Amino acid sequence: MKIERVETFLVPPRWLFCRVETDEGIVGWGEPVVEGRAEVVRAAVEVLAGYLVGEDPLRIEHHWQVLTKGGFYRGGPVLSSAVAGLDQALWDIAGQAYGAPVHALLGGPVRDRVRVYSWVGGDEPGEVAAEVAAQVEAGFTAVKMNAGGRLSPLPTPAEIDDVVRRLAAAREVLGDHRDVAVDFHGRAGAAAVRRILPELAALRPLFAEEPLLPEQGHALHDVVTCSPIPIATGERLYGRAEFLGPLRAGVAVVQPDLSHAGGISEVRRIAALAETYGALLAPHCPLGPIALAASAQVAFATPNFLIQEQSVGIHYNEEADLLDYVVDPEPFRFVDGHLRRMDAPGLGITVDEEAVRRADRTGHAWRNPVWHHDDGSFAEW
Ligand SMILES: [Mg+2]
Repeated sequence: MKIERVETFLVPPRWLFCRVETDEGIVGWGEPVVEGRAEVVRAAVEVLAGYLVGEDPLRIEHHWQVLTKGGFYRGGPVLSSAVAGLDQALWDIAGQAYGAPVHALLGGPVRDRVRVYSWVGGDEPGEVAAEVAAQVEAGFTAVKMNAGGRLSPLPTPAEIDDVVRRLAAAREVLGDHRDVAVDFHGRAGAAAVRRILPELAALRPLFAEEPLLPEQGHALHDVVTCSPIPIATGERLYGRAEFLGPLRAGVAVVQPDLSHAGGISEVRRIAALAETYGALLAPHCPLGPIALAASAQVAFATPNFLIQEQSVGIHYNEEADLLDYVVDPEPFRFVDGHLRRMDAPGLGITVDEEAVRRADRTGHAWRNPVWHHDDGSFAEW
């Protein structure tokens, strides 16, 4: 079998898909994207496709090595995401060639279902109780919310009280048998987070996510030890070496993105690295159906998996949603807040190629908002 063609599709709301076609008629799909930089990743995929055309798609690890390291310059969000999407597509092809779901090729399932969480509150959360109640009603056992919108470099008591009050409102609706995670999105600095986290501890969130930007990893250990709240991070880390620092700092949860951190191949290795530190895997995935299917395949085969993010109804999905691009939505029908095992060959979903080609004709130019503080200076989003 040989790879004949690699195509890319820029599809709303903010995604990029790739399609890898072989001379035996097997087609694999991947989702190589950096949100807000999809066109740049598209160019990177087109460059990397030059290495793949004419090659045997089943040599996944060999191709991962060449695509990741063969250009001398390596890493970073754009190149790692391009490799990630192509890696997903090669695993999809391998599964179909061997007549097995990807999780079977990874050693077989270690669980029967995968717990997922839903987003509430959007970018700038206000009153969240009704949204949390709707997710509980829909059967979810966990939600995640932003700690707040813009945060002052050193938040005022009122800003801190707002963060505490919103989390308390969510906890009250959820009760003690469901979970809420809180995402700081790197919007606060270490000093701010060290002031806020102890005040949230009594509400026992599942974890506090991205309390610091990746470039402030030197301060992560202080954040880990400032409260008993488990610390999660990793959506802006792109390979196993970048997770070593956070794991040494004591993070409890790693959150590589299957579409950013080198795909199925590398996230499996990141999970294994995390396991040696007693840390858990909770892949980032505010993305489309292919990224979620790839995430689920890893989750079914990975012992130290905790919970999976998913984007159905997320605040970013305004023009299109995850189910718009699959022939059969059934694999993504959540039952009691879980994905059921996906046993179809490959990634376990059937991409609606017609819908993808149609959407690509419109494309998108999604960019994240650029925020400013009241004094006009730049604020982290
Ligand atoms: Mg996050």
